[in-house]
Amino acid sequence: MNTSNSEKLYARAKKFMPAGVNSPVRAFGSVGRTPLFIDRAEGSRIYDADGNEFIDYVCSWGPNILGHSYPPVINAVTESCKKGLTFGACHEGEILLAEKIQKHFPSMEMLRLVNSGTEAVMSAVRAARGFTGRDRIIKFEGCYHGHSDGLLVKGGSGLLTNSVPDSAGVPKGFTDNTLLAEYNNEASVEKLFDEHNDIACVIVEPVAANMGVVPPKKGFLEFLRDITEKNGALLIFDEVITGFRLSIGGAQEYFGIRPDMTALGKIVGGGMPLAAYGGRHEIMECVSPLGSVYQAGTLSGNPAAVAAGLAQITAIEGIPDLYTELDRKAALIENAMKNAGLNVNRAGSLLTAFFTDERVTDYSSAKTADTKKYADYFGYLLDNGIYTAPSQFEAMFVSYAHSDEDIKMTCDIIEGYKR
Ligand SMILES: *Cc1c(COP(=O)(O)O)cnc(C)c1O
Repeated sequence: MNTSNSEKLYARAKKFMPAGVNSPVRAFGSVGRTPLFIDRAEGSRIYDADGNEFIDYVCSWGPNILGHSYPPVINAVTESCKKGLTFGACHEGEILLAEKIQKHFPSMEMLRLVNSGTEAVMSAVRAARGFTGRDRIIKFEGCYHGHSDGLLVKGGSGLLTNSVPDSAGVPKGFTDNTLLAEYNNEASVEKLFDEHNDIACVIVEPVAANMGVVPPKKGFLEFLRDITEKNGALLIFDEVITGFRLSIGGAQEYFGIRPDMTALGKIVGGGMPLAAYGGRHEIMECVSPLGSVYQAGTLSGNPAAVAAGLAQITAIEGIPDLYTELDRKAALIENAMKNAGLNVNRAGSLLTAFFTDERVTDYSSAKTADTKKYADYFGYLLDNGIYTAPSQFEAMFVSYAHSDEDIKMTCDIIEGYKR
């Protein structure tokens, strides 16, 4: 594969951006390669600066559930842009999108639109603290909730890959109120509630997807619902990945659990920088200027981003077999991985092959994966035209644009992998 243009671009990019990237997960360091620079993307395919074509299973880390450059989304954004890029004032699209979100996530009785998943989660946690008047929060090892200070503890994903357990530049005081529990381990949560009576909230990825895919064991989310309720703490679902992905109503619909607050991102923005957080009325009524929890944004509810989100969710609503199709296709890939002797976790259209013999149910079992073996597998797939995450601790995202032929090609290549 000729990657000379990407290499030239990488050399230039490195002069201006740390490691040449604007987000660490894009660096190919952990897989021993240089990042590919993408020129364009359409449907299930991405094309790099050297004209190489790949079947893409990163899908921009989740947003592109209908594939790249989905025409109704592109058209909606194009039309919106003609009316101006940003107003810094109210517009009807915000209401239409809020109505759509609320329809599918009834637990989000009130919500705010923001610009990134990081912002959504950070704001949800602040509202939870403001509402309860408590400071401490519980998060799970290996769950990623964006890069805000208080949540950068055992954050999985890029942090895991780059072996940074915590981030420099985060004063210890900022994470003192962040308590850590183990995913899928009820006793670890009980212990924290026994020791502390000032826990504002438990935040969780209802399906963990930033230490590789780790589904919740049966009863785990129900347990979190119960224990938070009993202790006057809020339950926050970080559905930045799972929202509109596991089902149209996200993990809360899929598992039938109503959290107090929810953070959405990725799919909700249709590929534009847009995210949302929301929850029960009485909690959201604490947010400024109704209440005293401050949260704001110059570009929040940006018309072009709102148009993209609205168009993508409307399209999702119009595809009755979307989730059964995604599930069927992902199951075929899962099966191919199993045929190749790989250890797979899957939840709907999210899946990860872990290079370990242990069953992966939490952060410590995920960490037993051999990242060198993953790097070899990644390189094999890439050389055969399959683009996946350059990290063991990420999900493979299946989209509606992956055709049966794409899936068959992918499965054949995976089955041809020799460990
Ligand atoms: C991606 C992600 C975030 C952060 O979203 P950004 O838009 O990258 O800031 C937060 N939580 C989860 C679960 C995510 O996967």
